[in-house]
Amino acid sequence: MDDADYEAHEQFPYKREKVLANFNTFCSEHLSLYPKYRNFNLGHPHENVSKLSPYLRRRLVSEKEVLQIALKKNSLSSLEKFIQEIFWGTYWRGWLEMRPDVYKDYFNGYDGSNLPGKTGIRCFDYWTEELIETGYLHNHARMWYASIWIFTLGKSWISGANFFKDHLVDWCPASNTLGWRWVAGLQTRGKIYIAKADNIRLFTNDKFFPKGQLNESPFFTDDLWKTYERSSEISFAKSNISTREDTAVIINKNDLTLNHYISKEKINFKGCIFHDPEYQPSKSVFVNKFESGIIENLCLDLPSFAFCQSKKSLINWAKSEKLRRLIFPYETVGNKYFMKSDFINELRSRNIEAIFYMRDWDKFAFPFANKGFFSFKNNISDLLLKNGVLKTNQ
Ligand SMILES: Cc1cc2nc3c(=O)[nH]c(=O)nc-3n(C[C@H](O)[C@H](O)[C@H](O)COP(=O)(O)OP(=O)(O)OC[C@H]3O[C@@H](n4cnc5c(N)ncnc54)[C@H](O)[C@@H]3O)c2cc1C
Repeated sequence: MDDADYEAHEQFPYKREKVLANFNTFCSEHLSLYPKYRNFNLGHPHENVSKLSPYLRRRLVSEKEVLQIALKKNSLSSLEKFIQEIFWGTYWRGWLEMRPDVYKDYFNGYDGSNLPGKTGIRCFDYWTEELIETGYLHNHARMWYASIWIFTLGKSWISGANFFKDHLVDWCPASNTLGWRWVAGLQTRGKIYIAKADNIRLFTNDKFFPKGQLNESPFFTDDLWKTYERSSEISFAKSNISTREDTAVIINKNDLTLNHYISKEKINFKGCIFHDPEYQPSKSVFVNKFESGIIENLCLDLPSFAFCQSKKSLINWAKSEKLRRLIFPYETVGNKYFMKSDFINELRSRNIEAIFYMRDWDKFAFPFANKGFFSFKNNISDLLLKNGVLKTNQ
């Protein structure tokens, strides 16, 4: 990567206001061209895509507010593709939520090796460096990269997914695991994604052309196929949050604006920002820096909130504040941290109830993620209405 590329560190600001300001600019200047240009990977600063994923993943901004902003400056019909992409993330989370064994098998199947090293394939080596240094890859680069990893270099999709897990600043257990499985032909049996030199040349505007370097006629190994039945139901019970004084909302990487969202419940609550710096120690330097930056800014923005870095310190704080109920963001598959029986029981033994709050966005959409995206997609208009993004007459 050249010097200009190093500025890529600036492409992910830490402050919510700055993220929203950048997105407003994107809506005015680029969003109308998104359907035409989103597949072009033109390198830093990746102006043809929103770069919202690190924030949506942590809900520093929400899907609903992003779409509301987009709709102020663009017509609904021009946003169809962008809306669908936002819902891809929702769909993957809902799909995995109903099939936790898929994630379990991925997690347990990791064999410990994942560094790609230099391969001599210029585009691949470039993207390795880009990912390590900036925490980000354009969607098309992720698809090509995963395909080359599996079918040209002959490495396992699990080791590739794990490499992404440590380095992506937007790492999401669902989008990443299922994105790799999709490329490997494991989402739709045998339907593999093949990276082709001509396609890379076209969509990188001639920057790369790995002619003769890629395996462009790979075979799907059927032994890798495993059928997963839907094994888990999603609970739709609405959390009962009535007015009581002894409640706290704990915001963490699963939902950094749950406090704004809960405000509509009109209850009094104390707040706590939670960040365990030792969780997932294999995370890259870049991702660690990004997470610390976001948390430090939140601490400045929310001076009345406590700040805890371990379960023990959280429990001590809850005791000292005489809290009886802690509201955590709901933890989907691959994100379990607090939502574990030993922790919940420990709170219970101290007369503290734990509530895991699922936003309406997920609650309404997840049940439709039971089949393929094609059938899920048919529900998008209704979901936009139900979530109040659209009014009936729009
Ligand atoms: C192998 C592989 C691994 C991936 N791993 C992740 C991951 O860990 N985390 C992650 O958020 N996305 C992942 N994706 C999906 C996609 O590449 C990123 O969401 C997208 O590149 C983020 O950039 P953006 O915000 O500029 O996207 P935009 O094109 O601006 O899209 C807007 C938003 O829509 C959602 N979105 C767009 N495309 C997809 C998609 N294909 N799948 C799911 N959601 C999508 C994201 O929330 C994104 O922020 C992966 C894709 C592949 C092929």
